[in-house]
Amino acid sequence: MVCINCQSKTEVINSRLQKKSNRVWRRRFCPQCKNTFTTIEAFHDLSFIVSDTKLPKTSPKPFSRDNLFISLYLSCGHRNNPISDATALTDTVVGMLLPSIQNGCIAKSDLLATAQSVLEHFDLVAATHYKAYYSKSL
Ligand SMILES: [Zn+2]
Repeated sequence: MVCINCQSKTEVINSRLQKKSNRVWRRRFCPQCKNTFTTIEAFHDLSFIVSDTKLPKTSPKPFSRDNLFISLYLSCGHRNNPISDATALTDTVVGMLLPSIQNGCIAKSDLLATAQSVLEHFDLVAATHYKAYYSKSL
């Protein structure tokens, strides 16, 4: 990666795997202008299907990170910074879902249960809201 100031080649001076969100955090240094900045390496095209096993006649739908984010954001509406909370929660839920994907598919019940579980460990009011609005099919 090149420097954001001078476009010279940069060096990685620190790197950490963020297991929960399956991302790699890197601190970069530019020897030319002495600038430092942070990058995050993450999945870009994360595509999989969400199937609803309780309603087998409904067609599978593509996973939507945006829909997950919105559901978590609305559940965190009472908090001081719901956008950053929902962003971090979305990363956590997606990271936890990755091992459950089989043949490019995940059960809707697994998605909802994972989001519910993450919220229960984060904020019980948000978890209660999520359960009332999104976990009806559990
Ligand atoms: Zn530079």
